[in-house]
Amino acid sequence: MEKYQLETACIHGDGQQQHAYGALSVPIYQSATFTHPGIGQSTGYDYTRESNPTRTELEKLVTELEGGFDTVACTTGMAAISLSFELLEPGSHVICSEDLYGGSVRYFDTIGKKIGLTFSYVDTSDVENIKQALQDNTKALYIETPSNPTMQITDLRAVKEIAKERDLLLYVDNTFLSPYYQNPIALGADVVVCSGTKFLSGHNDTLAGFITVANEELAEKIRYAYKTIGCCLAPFDSYLIIRGIKTLAIRMARQQENAEAIAKWLLEQPQVTKVYYVGLPDHPGYEVNCRQARGAGSMISFCVDSEERARKVLEKIKVISYAESLGGVESLLTYPMLQTHGDVPKEQREKLGITENFLRMSVGIESLEDLLADLQQALADD
Ligand SMILES: *Cc1c(COP(=O)(O)O)cnc(C)c1O
Repeated sequence: MEKYQLETACIHGDGQQQHAYGALSVPIYQSATFTHPGIGQSTGYDYTRESNPTRTELEKLVTELEGGFDTVACTTGMAAISLSFELLEPGSHVICSEDLYGGSVRYFDTIGKKIGLTFSYVDTSDVENIKQALQDNTKALYIETPSNPTMQITDLRAVKEIAKERDLLLYVDNTFLSPYYQNPIALGADVVVCSGTKFLSGHNDTLAGFITVANEELAEKIRYAYKTIGCCLAPFDSYLIIRGIKTLAIRMARQQENAEAIAKWLLEQPQVTKVYYVGLPDHPGYEVNCRQARGAGSMISFCVDSEERARKVLEKIKVISYAESLGGVESLLTYPMLQTHGDVPKEQREKLGITENFLRMSVGIESLEDLLADLQQALADD
């Protein structure tokens, strides 16, 4: 049978799942261990750190959506990102996008260094910068596109050319567009990491993270590290993410619709000095994103005319919540300088434009009218 369209795959995976008693929803196998039918025999499941039927269903689903070979489901996005670096030997050099999720920078600069990895941060939206940063011991490229929070777009096909030439592992953090809008493996990525806490969960109620790999060799290495380290997602949380993914398509489409309208509206506001949204045709990465992704997503960053205004907006919003995270049905505003990027060195942060008047919005599925009214009253002078 033909592969399902994404909307169908979100609900039915590859169409092969069958559950005891004909249960339509996946049962939550809340069991740490599984009895052996006989000596040296297994039901396929022995111990939940290694694998669990509820989690396996989720992992298959994410593999299907990402178009990968295999996926492991981890407790958080950061657990997935740190586990994925088990693929590299100490002494390896990694070139990464300069604008990255703050937690990734924290991991790279502290624990990453301690385990013998070195990192160069470059503007990967111009692939020439990657070529300039190559060293003899460069083993991997690590890309976020769109990047968090300044929405830079990196041309993944062009990056793959460099990776292929030098035999480098290509990592992509696919959190911002999710597999609904972007499939980096089809564009040449070897390892896709994704925070399932965000769009896949979709309800700001569950933490999760995924590593999807492109081939069997990588899958074997990751599975070995996964069962050894033990950062596996619990059966109940696996169930919640499966439930979230069922509505991924309609949530993301609606979120994007709202985001596009809000980005255009923000452009018109005198208190707003800059808008970063990948779906605006004058965004520098607009065309590359159109070539490699199916949408622009629902993340917007913008600058207001003063730090005071930024702080007031955060205090005055009502429908929108002032909170970290993104991707859920609830609209959120974040102050990256203090929150997600609080640990990024000041010079690096300011070079990227993450200043005192910079705000990031994750657009949810509320009524557009209510969201615009909320932003309007929050931006207004007292
Ligand atoms: C949130 C996020 C992460 C980390 O995920 P957690 O689930 O919070 O650990 C990694 N990358 C990006 C782009 C994120 O937005």
